[in-house]
Amino acid sequence: MSGTERDAVVVGAGFGGLYMLHRLRSAGFSTIAFEAGGDVGGTWYWNRYPGARCDVESLEYSYSFSPELEQEWEWTERYPAQPEILRYAEHVADRFELRHDIRFDTRVVAATFDERASRWLVRTEPDGETSARFLVMATGCLSSANLPRIDGMDSFAGRIAHTGRWPHEGIDLRAKRVAVVGTGSSGVQAIPVIAEEAAELFVFQRTPNYSIPARNGPLDPDLQREIKAHYREFRAANRLRPAGLGARWPIGDQSALEVPDEDVKRDLEERWRIGGFAFLSGFTDFLKNREANAKAAEFVKRRIREIVRDPTVAERLSPKQVIGCKRLCLDTRYFETFNRPNVHLVDVSEHPIERLTPRGLVAGGREYEVDVIVFATGYDAMTGSLTRIDVRGRNGVALRDAWSAGPRTYLGLGVAGFPNLFTMTGPGSPSVLANVIVAIEQHVEWIADCLAYLRSRGYATIEATVEAQDAWVDHVNAVADATLYPTCNSWYLGANVPGKPRVFMPLIGFPPYVEKCNEVAAKDYEGFVLARA
Ligand SMILES: Cc1cc2nc3c(=O)[nH]c(=O)nc-3n(C[C@H](O)[C@H](O)[C@H](O)COP(=O)(O)OP(=O)(O)OC[C@H]3O[C@@H](n4cnc5c(N)ncnc54)[C@H](O)[C@@H]3O)c2cc1C
Repeated sequence: MSGTERDAVVVGAGFGGLYMLHRLRSAGFSTIAFEAGGDVGGTWYWNRYPGARCDVESLEYSYSFSPELEQEWEWTERYPAQPEILRYAEHVADRFELRHDIRFDTRVVAATFDERASRWLVRTEPDGETSARFLVMATGCLSSANLPRIDGMDSFAGRIAHTGRWPHEGIDLRAKRVAVVGTGSSGVQAIPVIAEEAAELFVFQRTPNYSIPARNGPLDPDLQREIKAHYREFRAANRLRPAGLGARWPIGDQSALEVPDEDVKRDLEERWRIGGFAFLSGFTDFLKNREANAKAAEFVKRRIREIVRDPTVAERLSPKQVIGCKRLCLDTRYFETFNRPNVHLVDVSEHPIERLTPRGLVAGGREYEVDVIVFATGYDAMTGSLTRIDVRGRNGVALRDAWSAGPRTYLGLGVAGFPNLFTMTGPGSPSVLANVIVAIEQHVEWIADCLAYLRSRGYATIEATVEAQDAWVDHVNAVADATLYPTCNSWYLGANVPGKPRVFMPLIGFPPYVEKCNEVAAKDYEGFVLARA
């Protein structure tokens, strides 16, 4: 093969791309990965904002594919911070000698399917073209930073930063007046840390969010030893959980409406004390029934009122939506931060930020003078990194046109009209509603097995049928509609990006999804058309 011909191109060198590259190479497929960033790590390469941390526990937020890697890596905290996760990604790249097949600082800008050759022609910047039989998009579910367009953005004389594109050299916030715009997961992590450093902090909040204490701390060495001694069983137990995580904590099997209020409260109190995502796992219907949900929601609001001394501020910090329909935040002293004299909550729910001026931001007719503006405004989730590439399938159809009314996939892995294209943790798969590393490993292994199957039987292409895709999209919607998830304006629905179609993108429930993917493979890739050259 020439230098520009490969069996497979992988786009992205985060946890998805790294393992995909390793797995394909090990199976004998010539593979190259392109990465827009300067090194490996993806999310953890870009998100260097103060307080950046994983919300899944370190012993779970790690690869399971190599028992040796699992044993040799020592985590230091219950939830790993960004620098530690980045070191882990770098260690993986070194250990499996992945870097020499990755082109860094190289962005894939276009990919066109050549129907006669049944190959993808992948165009990269700076200038380059690679031809490959298969194209795997490991571009990340949360990697396209969403920077709002606000009048006067260019006029601001201070510094502007997005949490997801934080400068590597950091930003010195000491003695500075700082604005943080956004109170989702990144904002909730960054705000307490920035508050300690900055002279004054203005938090611009459009929607208050529920946040549960993470209860982070040094990882208990005995626990680490114990889990490592039974890692296979622990991983297997996690994969059977609805979100592929949390096997250390019990899941309830009763409705919150079936038991006395005191029992619900006791369970929530215990879970609040433990900290983390287990908070909503005590009862079966917190995310299905408004009355049940209200019990958990009211519990958190009561805590907010207890923690935040100023009742007006506490009220403004209290969410109105049901709990859990937006991604639950985990925090370290988030609500406590609003008791600090240097922290000011600016409610922009009714009067959005009007414009930026050379000195700061204007909202509700008042100008807030600041030195630094931090946009914690999240991502064009799940589809953004895919539609930013000019992907063209059969008949030159663009993916972004095919998805103009919302993304359509089969299993979140294939797209009708786009043969040999695989999306990882894409719309229609559990993705952001799971421990993403677990979701990634399942996708990588399914895709690698699929490519080996095609090779062994002499097939040149695999393509989802329109019928299978339509049925899958209906299924994803039906599962979501049976829950409270679609009831609020979340990024799961694309509601944070102006003009984005309102479609619930991730599939709820990891174990049944895995079963379906396995069944499809066992039935010779049912719902896909396989063809010879
Ligand atoms: C702040 C934050 C916190 C998170 N916390 C959690 C958590 O607690 N638990 C959890 O499970 N998940 C979490 N996630 C999700 C996280 O993205 C995944 O866990 C995981 O890191 C995704 O890996 P990935 O390889 O699929 O994607 P990414 O890590 O996003 O990597 C994708 C890579 O593709 C590159 N890329 C994209 N487009 C192109 C292109 N056109 N050309 C070249 N390169 C391209 C990007 O530069 C990026 O490096 C978090 C995400 C963020 C942003």
